Amino acid sequence: MSGKEISGIGEHGLGRSYGIPPELLDRLFCPTCALPLSREPVGDAFAIGWSCVVGHRFHLALGDSISQDMTEVASPPTGGWKVLRTWSEDPRLRSHINKQLAHVFRRIAEIRLDGRRIARHSYSMLDSFCPLCGGRLVCSPKDTDWGYGFRCANGHRFELRGGLNFRGVEAIVCLQADYADEEVIFLAGRYVKDPQDYYRLDPLVKRLLESFVEEEETRGGQTRRPQ
Ligand SMILES: [Zn+2]
Ligand SMILES: [Zn+2]
Repeated sequence: MSGKEISGIGEHGLGRSYGIPPELLDRLFCPTCALPLSREPVGDAFAIGWSCVVGHRFHLALGDSISQDMTEVASPPTGGWKVLRTWSEDPRLRSHINKQLAHVFRRIAEIRLDGRRIARHSYSMLDSFCPLCGGRLVCSPKDTDWGYGFRCANGHRFELRGGLNFRGVEAIVCLQADYADEEVIFLAGRYVKDPQDYYRLDPLVKRLLESFVEEEETRGGQTRRPQ
């Protein structure tokens, strides 16, 4: 990754809050196949992304401080599915939604605008690899208080909860696989059913989510709760 991108993260005050060293960002390994990860634009103003040559994609959310401004925020007049992409990419709009919703929005935009579908993850985190050294992870129940603990032979320790959580310089960070299509459908359906989650979203966004779920269910898409 270039120094320019690092300062871009700093402009949002996010990189600094986690103290993630740039050299760490450039030498991660794919938890699914152990090949080196390369930085890749993720389409989320508050996240950084990676992929391996096989195409496994991961990201790391850089904070989740939702704006306290309760003023209703309107969608941009970009039209169609691009609206969801803009909510995820634009720092001002992104600051009004949580990281899970931003993840759902950008994946729906990728599916509809780019045809970028992700089949059900065929791997299990139980036999995956250490993102810090590429070594095999093994279960280590004593390394966690609340989830599944893992460690590699080099002593790197992780907890599995929504992704692989490990200690950065100043805080716990979570390396998360991009949602498979069925996880996107499940979560979009849950947001559609729970109006409380829409307290800052306008009717256009709700209609887009509803039509995505309806179209995917008609298409025969499976739904699955994320890990
Ligand atoms: Zn991979
Ligand atoms: Zn390791």
